[in-house]
Amino acid sequence: MFDYVIIGAGLSGSVIAERIANVLNQKVLIIEKRNHIGGNCYDYKDENNIIIHKYGPHLFHTDYKEVVDYLSNFTDWEIYHHRVLAFIDGKKVPIPFNLNTLYEVFPKTLAEKLERKLLGKYQYNSKVPILDLLKEEDQDLKFLANYIYEKVFKNYTAKQWGLKPEEIDPQVTARVPIYISRDNRYFTDKYQAVPKEGYTKIFERMLNHPNIKIMLNMDFKEVLSIDLESKKIYFMGQEFKGKLIFTGPIDELFEYKFGDLPYRSLDLKFERLNMEYFQEVATVNYPNDYDFTRITEFKHIHPTKSEKTTILKEYPKAYQPDRDIPYYPVFTRESQELYNRYKEDAEKFENLILVGRLAEYKYYDMDDIVERALEAFEKEVK
Ligand code: FAD
Repeated sequence: MFDYVIIGAGLSGSVIAERIANVLNQKVLIIEKRNHIGGNCYDYKDENNIIIHKYGPHLFHTDYKEVVDYLSNFTDWEIYHHRVLAFIDGKKVPIPFNLNTLYEVFPKTLAEKLERKLLGKYQYNSKVPILDLLKEEDQDLKFLANYIYEKVFKNYTAKQWGLKPEEIDPQVTARVPIYISRDNRYFTDKYQAVPKEGYTKIFERMLNHPNIKIMLNMDFKEVLSIDLESKKIYFMGQEFKGKLIFTGPIDELFEYKFGDLPYRSLDLKFERLNMEYFQEVATVNYPNDYDFTRITEFKHIHPTKSEKTTILKEYPKAYQPDRDIPYYPVFTRESQELYNRYKEDAEKFENLILVGRLAEYKYYDMDDIVERALEAFEKEVK
């Protein structure tokens, strides 16, 4: 028998398994329902020899040095600064919206006037929420705020979350800032890079340890159950007295007893094209046109010599538990309350630890989840 069982071989489960195996020198079993490790960070080389992120583009960016140091035990890095363009009024322009974007979308004299006003009011390199600009007395700055809100955010958000544009609450969307800078990079974190040989290699190295056993193609429900009354966990029919680290969907663990937690899903459509490059940068957003939200060309992320290229179009869609992958939690007051009810129940189990975006119903970037998993190991698992 194992002292530790982990559900899910994504980033959270794999970091904790690695720590249990190496630091505690204990045996750990991972149960994963997919046919591969790595969760949503999984990547592979396709027939064009290009590294593809199977579950959508994953860009590593962080200010946490300790996360970089930890992951560097399992990979070398390639410096990479992500750039995103948005297709607006027939032109591709840099986003986040910055001072360069002004000159791409407006005539020079208007762009100069707006730049002067922005720099007269705000510090260079600061980020100003559109909502603040919308409140400006100055009519030119108000005009700019409305332009960005209408052309960049409103329809993109509507597509992403399946809402009508008029249902979008500016109080939420317009928190996104305009960047008072000439920096065209998408992120401004101190560390920005991609793993040299892709993400999957990180997982292979983390999990390649005699103390770690992995069962792929196995839904946890086939071997594990919880008794909601006695608050006991059963593994292969016997009471499990070790620690269960659960990184799957919390509502599934509790048999949806309070109802389904809402998520948004995606249809990911890959296309292999007979051309060297399809677009100028890794990602182009389409806020107002077409049904997809963005197109990613992976060759820009992992440079590869090839006559061909591979692109990905993302089509957001409603989520159905037995059909789709739960990509993004839909945060509303009701969904948060529903999650809290599950969490309260989970806390009554002595040997159950919840970690990860599905178990904690939280949007975590990769660096956040590594930080969270390392913390959970120190404070809850050890
Ligand atoms: P997961 O990776 O989801 O792992 C959970 C695992 O549990 C999965 O392997 C799943 O198959 C398994 N599981 C679920 N149910 C069961 C079951 N019943 N039985 C057994 N196993 C089960 N972060 C960034 O930092 N930069 C980015 O650019 C970025 N882009 C993203 C793009 C998209 C489209 C998405 C969805 C996320 C992105 N992220 C990005 C976030 C990143 O994917 C997460 O931080 C990370 O994957 C979280 O790891 P996790 O272990 O919590 O979850």
